[in-house]
Order: sequence, then structure tokens, then C-alpha cells
Amino acid sequence: MNSNIYKSTVFDMACLQFDRAADILQMDHRLRERVKTPKRCMIVSCPIELDTGEIVVYEGFRVQHHLSMGPTKGGLRFHPKVDLGEVAALAMWMSWKCALVDLPYGGAKGGIAVDPHTLSANELEHLSRRYMQEMIPFVGTNVDVMAPDMGTNEQIMAWMMDTYSSYVGSSAPAIVTGKPIGAGGSEGRREATGRGAAYLARTYMQDLGIAPQSATVIIQGFGNVGSEAAKAFVEYGTKVIGISDVSGAFFNPKGLDIEDALEHVAKNRSLAGWNGGDSLSNEELLEQPCDLLMPAALERVIHAENASKIQCRILCEAANGPTTNEADAILLERGDVLVIPDVLCNSGGVIVSYFEWVQDLQSTFWTRDEVLSKLYVILERAKTKVEKQKQRYGCSRREAALSLGISKVAEAKRLRGLFP
Ligand code: NAD
Repeated sequence: MNSNIYKSTVFDMACLQFDRAADILQMDHRLRERVKTPKRCMIVSCPIELDTGEIVVYEGFRVQHHLSMGPTKGGLRFHPKVDLGEVAALAMWMSWKCALVDLPYGGAKGGIAVDPHTLSANELEHLSRRYMQEMIPFVGTNVDVMAPDMGTNEQIMAWMMDTYSSYVGSSAPAIVTGKPIGAGGSEGRREATGRGAAYLARTYMQDLGIAPQSATVIIQGFGNVGSEAAKAFVEYGTKVIGISDVSGAFFNPKGLDIEDALEHVAKNRSLAGWNGGDSLSNEELLEQPCDLLMPAALERVIHAENASKIQCRILCEAANGPTTNEADAILLERGDVLVIPDVLCNSGGVIVSYFEWVQDLQSTFWTRDEVLSKLYVILERAKTKVEKQKQRYGCSRREAALSLGISKVAEAKRLRGLFP
């Protein structure tokens, strides 16, 4: 494809990962571009009236990567640096992730270039509803289903579901997942991504002979994913020694009081001003010694400059795309860090989103125990497949996970054929 519309560092990173996996699979060249290229993208302008009376127009994006295996599925991100290239890369990764864990979905992602913390609750509601309103021609319960991602949450999903439902004239809970339970959400969805990542980390600790009760973990990002992972680690007896958010990082090798940090964030919306540990910069936190390092915020935070300095046994990629391809090569060369790649590590979120969608479509509900036990079965199965693929091709764990997802999408496209 000669188009430049997605041109960005993150999109280039996702494309290079695809090319490597396609080489490993010796994928037919006639299929490659079809499988890699996003199917369609939307850019919408979202005008809203601020509390001051001023009108501001925000730019919103959505990329639907492929439609060959069911509706597309993927989060919606509110962040000032969101652009079409980043959204396209995240949509691609969603495709491979959904295929890896056997969900009947293609990947999608959306975003608005905005810092949600600068908006009042009223303004945030207007923006969320306006974005959904603009997307109505392109989404549907069997077309494209959104979910929360960085900067968005359950409340935003409830507003978006309400906006879509008003349009169709009846309640349509399956149009988004990650809703509050009272608005058609699922038990276990809020904690699914963080808890799923912690669950997988624990299984890999066992593989390496590390006792969870004597292990330490550092988590970057203390939002939905990072804080839920921290809670799960506390339950496993693993000591959380470092946490951070956009305001800064906190570290204490003896362990942090996660309950207290959660209370602080609930009151103050961020960790700023917390006095539960020594203050460090986000960069410094990543380089502290620990057994597990879990990036749970942005892309590309483990890069060529710090990859040789991180001091963990397991890198748990709860965020999407946290490790650059250059850093990946350095870690592979080092050989002393086990990387749980993002498409596997954070797949708990979309797995339970799928459970939520199924429950909404069938007007039924499952208990939290049912949800989590079904989640763990799928995670274990995906992990086993990845380990076998890694052995089979003698490749990295990331290449194994990506090639599994990519080969499944390629096979679906090959079987369906190319419409003349
Ligand atoms: P969130 O908005 O709830 O939390 C993000 C956290 O990252 C916040 O604490 C924020 O302050 C922090 N952060 C932002 N910039 C930072 C920086 N420069 N340094 C350190 N911390 C920073 O978002 P989330 O839903 O927890 O998503 C986090 C990551 O997990 C994203 O990469 C997202 O794509 C991925 N993910 C989320 C889900 C989900 O279900 N929410 C599913 C799969 C993957």
C-alpha cells in the first residue's frame, strides 16, 4: 500500500512486527498487504460547547482493521497525543490479539485528541456523546463495538451506550463494553485486564521457579489496568514496590500500601501529593531492581536507551506497545528478561469484553466467579499455544504470539476469497 495516511512511529513499529511475523510464517505475498492494511478509518470533528460558552472542535478517530471474522472490537482513547497512525497501530494489535485468544472479532481502535482532565464532567459527557453521535453510521452491535482505554472509563461507556440507544429507539447495551454493571456491564470486566495480566505473570513466575510470595513488582501507570493488577498482586502476596502515573513515581523496596494509594487516587484523581514512598521520575522507576516490571500506561516506554538498564526477570506488557522494536532486540540479546508480549498479557480485557457482549446480546448474566474462571481458561490456553509456537519456530515469544494471531486472520481471508 502506498498510502501515507497512517504514517507514524507507532504504526511503523506495528508494521515491522507484522512483516517479521509474516516472514516467520512464510506468508504468501498475495495475502500480506490484505492482512496488514486497515480496512477503513474515520476522522470526525466533534464540536462541543464548553462551560464558558466557548465552542471547541475536537478531532476524533476510529480505525476498523479487518472485518473478516466478525464485528470489529477495540477501545476508545482520550489523550492529547492521539493521532490516526497511533489508532491504526492499536487497531492492528487488537486484530492479532482477538485472533490469538479465539474471539470472533476483528480489531479496531478509536481516540480523541484531548486531555480529559482539562474538561468538566459536563464537557466530558458532551464530547463522549458527540463522538458516538458522529460514529453512528459506522458502528453497530454487529459492526464495531467500543470499550474503554486510556483516559476513558465506565461512565463514558454508559453515555455512549445511551446516545446510541436513543438513536435506535431501544436499549442497545451490546454497542459498547466496559459499561458500569448497572447499565448492562459485566461482573469482572473492570478488573479483567489488570487481573488477567497479573494471573499470567504468576504462571510465568511459577515456570521460572519464582515464588509469588517472595517476588517484587513495579507498575507504571495506576489507572484501570495498573491499579487492578496491583490489587491482584497484593492478593498473590507479591510485594508492589513501585507505582507511578502521569504525575510521577513512588518507590519503596519494602513494599507500598496499595490500599492507601487507591484511596488517595479516588480522592485526588492522581497520585500527585501521595506520601507513601520515595519520589522518583517515571524513567528512574523503570530502572529499579524488581522481579516483575509491568508497564501499564503508554506505548514505547522501554526503548533503546533504557532496555539495557531495566532490572527485572519478567517484563509484563499490560500496556499496548510499551516496548520498541529496538528495545525488543536488546532484551532478546540480553536473554535474561522473559517478555510477556502485550497481545497475550493484556488480552484479559477484550476476553471479558467479549463475555459482556455475549451476555448483553442474550440478555443474560454471569457471576464474577464464572467470568473469571472462564477468563483464566482462555488465558492458559493462549499461553500454551504461544509457548508451543515459540518452540516450533525458534522465535521470540512476541513473534510467536503475533504469528498465531496473524496466521488466523490470514487463513480467514484466504478461505473467504477475494471478491472480484
Ligand atoms: P487509564 O487511563 O485508566 O490509566 C492510564 C494510567 O497511565 C494513568 O494512571 C495515567 O496517569 C498513567 N500515565 C499516563 N501517562 C503516563 C506517563 N507518561 N508515565 C506514567 N504513567 C502515565 O488507562 P488504562 O485503561 O489503564 O490503560 C492503560 C494501558 O493498558 C493502555 O496502554 C491501554 O491501551 C492498555 N489496555 C487497556 C485495557 C483496558 O481494559 N482498559 C485493555 C487492554 C490494554
